[in-house]
Amino acid sequence: MALIGENLALSQPVIAIENVHLSLGQGRARVHILKGVSLEIGRGEAVGLVGPSGSGKSTLLMTMAGLEKPDSGAISINGARLTDMDEDALARFRGANIGIVFQSFHLIPTMTALENVAVPLELAGIADADRRAAAELSAVGLGERLDHYPAQLSGGEQQRVALARAMAPNPAILVADEPTGNLDETTGLSIMDLLFAMKRERGATLVLVTHDANLAARCDRRIRLRSGVIDPEHAATAKADA
Ligand code: ADP
Ligand code: MG
Repeated sequence: MALIGENLALSQPVIAIENVHLSLGQGRARVHILKGVSLEIGRGEAVGLVGPSGSGKSTLLMTMAGLEKPDSGAISINGARLTDMDEDALARFRGANIGIVFQSFHLIPTMTALENVAVPLELAGIADADRRAAAELSAVGLGERLDHYPAQLSGGEQQRVALARAMAPNPAILVADEPTGNLDETTGLSIMDLLFAMKRERGATLVLVTHDANLAARCDRRIRLRSGVIDPEHAATAKADA
């Protein structure tokens, strides 16, 4: 019996999205963006989320990260239903389980690199936040930049800080929305190398929005959105036939 239980636990998807509909905007400006999206992502998988501009990639990513609330449908991370949580529970859950990296870094400009990484750890009640933040910044090659403010760092360095911040709580899932979109090609490649290396080392699950076919090809699987719907032909493409 124990064996069956363990196997079930292993096969449970880390991200389960069930028939999610989501609209944004008010009144006549309201837009139906996600139109019945269902999706399962396995533990440790790297999934590339691709599709034309405006197809709903960012919205889907923010929805699975618990930052947008669907009109209907259900989202579970590690078996916990985000869609049943109140705002406080959701914020706590996000802080402990979900790392997020944005195209435009989203660092707090009045805080140093160290503070940008340490403050979310403190808020999550983690002891020794400063020491852990310093270790995370060293791990992304910024051990000598702890007291720099974002404006004193290059774009690539800022994205490294953002990556350190996202990975510091050892989240089960990392979602990244065009993380190299504001970087030159060489810097972007080094960020992606770092992102995939951290994902591997920590056994995290990665969902990566990108319009770069080469980056999408580095993922285990690609999912294509079209007008808020998953393109069935690309719902389960193996890496080999990219
Ligand atoms: P993508 O990331 O694939 O480019 P988005 O998820 O950002 O697409 O947006 C999907 C669609 O939703 C677009 O048509 C966009 O204009 C619309 N949209 C995004 N955010 C809002 C909002 N807050 N209010 C109304 N419409 C929005
Ligand atoms: Mg987008």
